[in-house]
Amino acid sequence: MNSSQANTTATQATVAESNRSRIMQHLYHNGISSRAQIAKALGLTPAAISKITAQLIEAGAIEESGDMEGAKNRRSIGLRLDTARFHIIGVKFARSLVQVGVFDLCGNTLALEDLPPVTNETIGDAVRLMHRRIESMLDEDSSIIAVAMAVPGPYMRDEGRTAVVSSMLGWRDVNFIEEFGHAFRVPVFIEQDARAGALAHYLFDPESHGEDELSYFLVGEGVGLGVIERERIVNGALGAATEIGHVSIDVNGRPCDCGNRGCLERYCSTPAIHEMLIDEGGPVPGAEHLSHAEAARALFALARQGVAQAVEMVRLIGRYIGFGCVNIFNTFNPRLIIIGDIVSEAGTLLLDEVKATVRSRSIREIYDSTEIRLSAMPTDATVCGTAAVAATQFLDHPSMFFELG
Ligand SMILES: [Zn+2]
Repeated sequence: MNSSQANTTATQATVAESNRSRIMQHLYHNGISSRAQIAKALGLTPAAISKITAQLIEAGAIEESGDMEGAKNRRSIGLRLDTARFHIIGVKFARSLVQVGVFDLCGNTLALEDLPPVTNETIGDAVRLMHRRIESMLDEDSSIIAVAMAVPGPYMRDEGRTAVVSSMLGWRDVNFIEEFGHAFRVPVFIEQDARAGALAHYLFDPESHGEDELSYFLVGEGVGLGVIERERIVNGALGAATEIGHVSIDVNGRPCDCGNRGCLERYCSTPAIHEMLIDEGGPVPGAEHLSHAEAARALFALARQGVAQAVEMVRLIGRYIGFGCVNIFNTFNPRLIIIGDIVSEAGTLLLDEVKATVRSRSIREIYDSTEIRLSAMPTDATVCGTAAVAATQFLDHPSMFFELG
């Protein structure tokens, strides 16, 4: 084969994969459809649709669903992509908190568990335990088609490593690609945590489905941001873009492990809240014996009961998150900012303070055209967002998952 023939073959393969992907996407978003409906929607010939769908049915990617009412009362056979039949293992690594679950292609949670809390000294144990858990889940469930992981940013995509995990630097030594990239019988996808959260809202959340200028502002064990701009995730050269947690809100402020001072993460993440509760004698008794998440949740419960000191602390945290939102406004001008993860559990009191802060510090036109709300997904957006990461690959690259000519 000469080089021009090779190029032609490569192009044909790319076109074939693109058409398979478009059909998978159509069935995913529109449900049961006839071949004629797909042909019309995608602008492909009936002959091409017949050929490609036959191939996808043969491979087990889609199936015929029986008769459906066609145009002029003619009956035609429906095709469908059974989103419940394909399962994804999703893992969230968030400093001390590690979760693993099983999801379907629409992000429905089939199982979810917390692994024992991790310290800097037990990161290696947590990684080994995760290998064993995933292996046994793969043994138990033959429907699993992928493993997807959400890891703290700044995640250097090509290298497979997180550059700085403030307050738990041990995670820096884990190379996620070397550790997990080829460890299992199914493909493995790794994404920065807040980007997985953004994708979850884009793909699975009926309130924001298809919103193509969306930011997911993760405020939990870390502080991160995932930005979807014109249907594309913003990554940056190394994958380290949109690291709002390391944007300074006080150039002379608290030192951060990244080398900067006053990083947002040092004021509103759960480790920062926990530190404030311990150092400043906050309203949570015995806070030093709790985990970061437990301490933050105890504070939020007291604030809901109206305990004045707790209310004041939640308002302060809301102001810090508001400063973050102002930076997001001015950098990305999204239509929607969704605040999620543990700190969003503080609820309306927090959100009201965020909005008041943003209103007083941002350009009026941008404020008026931007919605800020709390994540309302039934499962944490990052962990179920891992399924969105895998589902996106599944729909974009069917040949990665099926034997297709
Ligand atoms: Zn920093």
